[in-house]
Amino acid sequence: EVAKARFVERNATSLKLHAEAAKSLPGGNTRSLLHTAPFPVFLKSGTGYQVLSEDGNTYTDLVGEMTAALYGHSHPLIQSALISTIQHTGLNLGGNTHHESRHAALLCSRFDLSLIRFTNSGTEANLHALAGAKRFTGKRKVVVFTGAYHGACYMFPADSPAENVVDREDWIIAEYNDVEDARKKIEESGDVAAVLVEGMQGGGPCIVGTHEFLHQIQTSAKKVGAVFILDEVMTSRLAPGGLQELEGLNPDLTTMGKYLGGGMSFGVFGGREDIMRLYDPRDKSALIHSGTFNNNTLSMVAGYAGLSQVYLPEVSREFNKMGDKLREKLQELSQGTKMAVTGRGTIIGIHFLKDGKKDIKSYRDKKDDSELRELFWYEMLADGFWITRRVSIALILGTPWEELERFASCVEAFLKRHEGLV
Ligand code: PLP
Repeated sequence: EVAKARFVERNATSLKLHAEAAKSLPGGNTRSLLHTAPFPVFLKSGTGYQVLSEDGNTYTDLVGEMTAALYGHSHPLIQSALISTIQHTGLNLGGNTHHESRHAALLCSRFDLSLIRFTNSGTEANLHALAGAKRFTGKRKVVVFTGAYHGACYMFPADSPAENVVDREDWIIAEYNDVEDARKKIEESGDVAAVLVEGMQGGGPCIVGTHEFLHQIQTSAKKVGAVFILDEVMTSRLAPGGLQELEGLNPDLTTMGKYLGGGMSFGVFGGREDIMRLYDPRDKSALIHSGTFNNNTLSMVAGYAGLSQVYLPEVSREFNKMGDKLREKLQELSQGTKMAVTGRGTIIGIHFLKDGKKDIKSYRDKKDDSELRELFWYEMLADGFWITRRVSIALILGTPWEELERFASCVEAFLKRHEGLV
């Protein structure tokens, strides 16, 4: 209650703006995940690794727009590419441009994909990958995993039926990180068109798929002729060639998005040539995949500028090493407490567990201590860290290591302050 009162006091302007917003948006919200009680903080601007709130508070941004803000806010190189495009090219031309083919070629070589197609979001990338898989196999069902998040209408919470999923009867839900359940559901269900999985479940937050589990999925999918789709919308940043490179996976299709549009709306799906040929419009029976903004020049130019000039392979390796270092530091601090730290590279999850059982292999294992988690959230905000309420972190390139050390010190102080609780 004390932390909450302090929050209300520090964010008086946000409270007013929230009341205004609620007049035209349900609960003042258009992205469910961004809602926080008693009300959300309104952001005014962002520069580099920091965001400024309407209440005049500056935060070190650990949300990193759920991994999409990898380059930080208004990276100078991306900013100048965008300004020049607005001035000299145009936003959306209604025709093919070399901007899309150039970005496509770079993505294909970087992520080892034969052919790709662009979309406006990661959600759409998954939607079209699934449509392609169904057409390719002539089958209908899709195996997914508890706790998965594959986009706005594709979420599979462990504790309730998949209420938000469109077209519910097509899904078979297996346990994440359960090798035998995955094998059984993929190999024995029949009519399986695709298996869709995240190499690390971002929504957990950050429940890491084991090597054995991910390879079992790949083997079983290939065995029954189902299309193995790896959702790398979050994880593609973890290595120069994404998580598939780290794990030695060879998915039939890969879906990505987020930072690969340089901060603009973006999604992409692609992989095996024989599957992606289904979309070749020179073939009269091709699958139609349209979208007014699929090749908008701003996303194409920003994505290309970022990947070709900023997030070079060596930068990706170094950046993720920094994330590993932070995670290890937090793990050390968490010893003997109810706090657990998960993740890979620059994507980190912090958990507060009622039973202190830290070996989180699936969403179902997790006994969330939501009160402690909320207290942590309030106190990290007060210490100047912008962080998600579920407590996940997606690092921003250029965040000084000293600032991450300051975060670790604040976590340490939190654990000491609440010794009896944690
Ligand atoms: N898949 C995963 C693993 C994601 O984390 C997300 C977004 O958080 C999506 C798909 C959906 O991407 P978008 O929000 O661009 O639709």
